[in-house]
Amino acid sequence: MKHHGLREEVAHVAKRLIDSGLVTGTSGNVSARTPEGEVLVTPSGIDYEVLEPEDVVLVDIEGTVVEGALEPSSETPMHTGIYRVRAEVGAVVHTHSIYATTLACLGWPIPPVHYMLTTLSGDGQVPLAPYTTYGTEELAGYAGDALGEGCNACLLQNHGTVTVGAHPEEAFARTVVLEEMAEIYYRTRIAGEPVLLSPGQIEEVAAKISGYGQAKPASTDNRG
Ligand SMILES: [Zn+2]
Repeated sequence: MKHHGLREEVAHVAKRLIDSGLVTGTSGNVSARTPEGEVLVTPSGIDYEVLEPEDVVLVDIEGTVVEGALEPSSETPMHTGIYRVRAEVGAVVHTHSIYATTLACLGWPIPPVHYMLTTLSGDGQVPLAPYTTYGTEELAGYAGDALGEGCNACLLQNHGTVTVGAHPEEAFARTVVLEEMAEIYYRTRIAGEPVLLSPGQIEEVAAKISGYGQAKPASTDNRG
């Protein structure tokens, strides 16, 4: 079976989503783009605790199954849609993580409330894609529009989260940061009115981070 290493990465990140509590049951999904431009995506309705690399489904960029005995994730159109509009993206993670999804259900995008948000988006803000039915091409379009050309994370209204990265571990690390930022923003909003960073302050951090941590480009969790 082709792409064994990448299949292992997808399955490993799916398990880490469960272990970290970011995903419960089968509500999240993970994908990675192969060197040939096809997509490996977690299957629908299987417990990630028992997910094996060979269970990961290979689909083409339109979402048609190329190889795999199981059905691909019902959110496959969103994954392939993001790959079609973001040529540099190598992995996508989707969750219903609690705090980020709470904000998504409140209709609150995340403003520049903490400097670590610059690892998710150059302007320190996490956008909110409008609601539409899960698993649709329309949702793929809304998510792609919200991510734009350079954003690494967005919220899906009344639904959940999307993060992207060069590879599955990077997209996972960004999901961890997104959930942490969402919890902080939620808690500050409950306690009062959060102090927001200015565009100049965000710019300074973005410049610093882009030249920082180069020994470990795969990780965003060791930054300050
Ligand atoms: Zn979902």
